[in-house]
Amino acid sequence: MRLDRWLTRQPQLNRRLALQVLAAGQVQVNGLTVRDPLHEVGPFDTLALSHTDSPPGTCLQVARRPRHVLLNKPAGIVTACHDAEHPTVIDVLRISLEMRGEDDGWLQEIHHVGRLDRATTGALLLTNDGDVSARISDAGLEGPAKIYRMGLESPLSVAERASAVACVAEGVLLEHDPRPTLPATLVFLAADEVRLTLHEGRHHHVKRLWRTLGNRVVWLHRESVAGLSLEGLAIGEWRELTAEECCRLG
Ligand code: URA
Repeated sequence: MRLDRWLTRQPQLNRRLALQVLAAGQVQVNGLTVRDPLHEVGPFDTLALSHTDSPPGTCLQVARRPRHVLLNKPAGIVTACHDAEHPTVIDVLRISLEMRGEDDGWLQEIHHVGRLDRATTGALLLTNDGDVSARISDAGLEGPAKIYRMGLESPLSVAERASAVACVAEGVLLEHDPRPTLPATLVFLAADEVRLTLHEGRHHHVKRLWRTLGNRVVWLHRESVAGLSLEGLAIGEWRELTAEECCRLG
């Protein structure tokens, strides 16, 4: 949000006063004086207001700690924050924090980026940063890849495999969806096992894709999302992203 708008929402300021304190150099963002009303601020910034042009000022907002979690989702768990019937991915994190005796208050802030079906296992990112989830979810062909591995009900002949690879590379019309899928990469690991790299995620994307191609997915595992590797994480385990991984997410 623009800094002038953010300031105007503070109870002690109105628009005129907000512009006045900005011009007077009385606003600090992350410890630095900012005079530009168009400067973008968000929940991960600390904001302060001083009564003179010399910091430090009165704290208006303490920066929220960014939280980005990679979970190796188990089967049988729903990708949701709350569910009346089934355990959720948030429950998986909560139980493991409880077992470690660690604070779980921050779980209220995070949400899952995209969704894996209940039976699907593998890489799921959770974050408290809406910009990160928007970047990953809406990125298109240039955006980060999602890599899936899956088993198929009917093994394919060599000719059928070549045809499936070509269809997926070109784009496929899924049922009830007028837009063809974006070009994707299919690699056969066996006659009935494939790796699929996607740059988008539509509702039940993988299952609908194979239904269109006349086959059925019998198991599905996401190996990687946005270049994040599950290496070292057993099913049900999770970790916070490293600083380097956070930088890559932007
Ligand atoms: N596509 C599906 O059909 N299911 C998933 O869980 C993920 C992608």
